[in-house]
Amino acid sequence: MSAFVLPPPPVPSVAVAGSAARLPVRRIFCVGRNYAAHAREMGRDPDREPPFFFTKPADALVDDRAGVAYPPATAELHHEGELVVALGRGGRDIAPAAALALVWGYGIGNDLTRRDLQAEAKAAGRPWDMGKGFDASAPCGPIHPVAAVGHPDRGALTVHVNGTLRQRGDLAELIWPVPEIIACLSRLVALAPGDLIYTGTPAGVGALVPGDVCEVAVDGLGRLVTPILPAG
Ligand code: MN
Repeated sequence: MSAFVLPPPPVPSVAVAGSAARLPVRRIFCVGRNYAAHAREMGRDPDREPPFFFTKPADALVDDRAGVAYPPATAELHHEGELVVALGRGGRDIAPAAALALVWGYGIGNDLTRRDLQAEAKAAGRPWDMGKGFDASAPCGPIHPVAAVGHPDRGALTVHVNGTLRQRGDLAELIWPVPEIIACLSRLVALAPGDLIYTGTPAGVGALVPGDVCEVAVDGLGRLVTPILPAG
C-alpha cells in the first residue's frame, strides 16, 4: 500500500435525497448555452452551435442551505439555475438511446459565475476557468435517485432571488436533452461513476450581492437555497 506525502483531501460529495449516505463526486461538467433564450441573451445564435462543455473542480460543491461568501476578484456574481445529472455508471462513445442507463439520479444546481471575469476571458480568447471554476462555485442540492423520480424531461425550472422571480424555463426547452448531452460528452472524455453534469440555464441570469438568498427550483426535485454571505 502506498503512502501519501500529504494528507489526502476529502472526497467531494453531494447529498442524496432521503438518505444519510452521500454520492461521491469525480468531476463536474457543465453545458454552455443549452436554452435558446439564454443563448440569445448572451449574444449567440442558438440554432447554429453544437453543445460545448466546461468544467468546475469537484471541491467547488456547496450543499443546499449552505452559505456562499461573495467571491474575490469580481463585481458581477451571477446565478444560473440548472438541472444536474449524476452518473452512476461511465463509458465512452455512448449512443443517445443507451445514455439514460448511465444516470444515477437528478438534482438542482447553481452554476455560479463571475460574469465580469468570464466576459474578459471571452473577449481575450482565454479560458473561462476563473469565471466559472472558482471556490464554492457549484451549489448542488440533494440528488434524487432515478428509482424515485425517473428521468425528468419536462417541468418548470425557476430561480427566485429574495422571493422575486429571475429565471423561468422548462426542462422541455433544453436544446440538447440529457441523452444527447451524455452522448456528446462521452465522445470527448471517458465518463465515470460520480460525474455530475450541469445541463445549462434558461434566460434571466443576473447579479447576486451579499445578503441575497437565491432559490432554484425544479418540478419534482425540490429546491436549492443558497444564501450569499459577505466577502470572506
Ligand atoms: Mn451554466
